[in-house]
Amino acid sequence: WDMFVLAFVERLFRPTFRKDDFVLGKKLGEGAFGVVYRVSLAKKPGAKEGDLVLKKATEYGAVEIWMNERVRRACASSCADFVYGFLESSSKKGGDEYWLIWKYEGEATLSDLMLSKDFPYNVETMILGEVQDLPKGLERENKIIQTIMRQLLFALDGLHSTGIVHRDIKPQNVIFSEGSRTFKIIDLGAAADLRVGINYIPKEFLLDPRYAAPEQYIMSTQTPSAPSAPVATALSPVLWQLNLPDRFDIYSAGLIFMQMAFPSLRTDSALIQFNRQLKRCDYNLTAWRNTIEPRASPDLRKGLELLDLDDGRGWELLTSMVRYKARQRTSAKGALAHPYFDREGLALSFMQN
Ligand code: ADP
Ligand code: MG
Repeated sequence: WDMFVLAFVERLFRPTFRKDDFVLGKKLGEGAFGVVYRVSLAKKPGAKEGDLVLKKATEYGAVEIWMNERVRRACASSCADFVYGFLESSSKKGGDEYWLIWKYEGEATLSDLMLSKDFPYNVETMILGEVQDLPKGLERENKIIQTIMRQLLFALDGLHSTGIVHRDIKPQNVIFSEGSRTFKIIDLGAAADLRVGINYIPKEFLLDPRYAAPEQYIMSTQTPSAPSAPVATALSPVLWQLNLPDRFDIYSAGLIFMQMAFPSLRTDSALIQFNRQLKRCDYNLTAWRNTIEPRASPDLRKGLELLDLDDGRGWELLTSMVRYKARQRTSAKGALAHPYFDREGLALSFMQN
């Protein structure tokens, strides 16, 4: 109950907003469940132009507000800064709309950045500011990709430790926060909070098939169903242990890792084709590698070479994330502890060379 009282008191003292407080700017995105705009606070001295983001959402907005409130209290640095969410009831057409407000984090998602010819060097400048004119090469690309993966896994670990599974991890939902110079996760519209049974019954149609793990359901269909409305019911953490629903996000993050390593997998059509190939190999990445390696394009070869650096630590991490069985996949915490991220180890192998 303390949690609820605290949340209530906090809510009481936070600024509240209404529809008329916002001036709509550029449209940033439009999905089946909502429209996203860049907005400013009207008539507010000191408010910078377009420093907020608004999502006008349909019925799933209620769950998304819940998730964002929870993230803000439990693992704020994992996701875009959430400001406020409210129900905007309209008398006219359409019916009710949920309005969600975040801080505007920056103009680029990981998807935008990955589509640049200059990736990953374009990200290096963003993360580190001015960069010395080091020679471009595999080692340097690997370092940048490593940093992005570390930040993504750190954000995921925050969510998973809070009991939240995102279920829609993809480059379009990873934003570069210009303020903190780190990548953060956005779009909790398909997320599930398993500790309290919110959105516990997975809505498969919310999942993006390009990045979805092979399991259809993140929880076994044998587990008892919990209420799908935002009603708090205690759910045993044992269920989490049994089903490891967080590994769904790990698979998606593994595919992002692949796309960063292999430029030719960055388009939608190439990713879809890769998914088909992987399925034919029974989701065994090593088997996939064996089929493509003999006649790999220079581009694919380069990706393999990058993952093979430092005794294949990148490849080892990748194969521990992209696996058919959820329970054989590593966790976000486990991935962060992988030697791939081990700086001292890298420095050592550097010296030995
Ligand atoms: P959708 O349900 O349409 O996918 P998202 O929450 O993913 O909604 O937002 C759509 C797009 O809006 C994102 O891909 C991103 O480009 C932009 N966006 C969302 N939140 C922010 C934010 N906090 N700061 C800057 N841009 C954002
Ligand atoms: Mg999105």
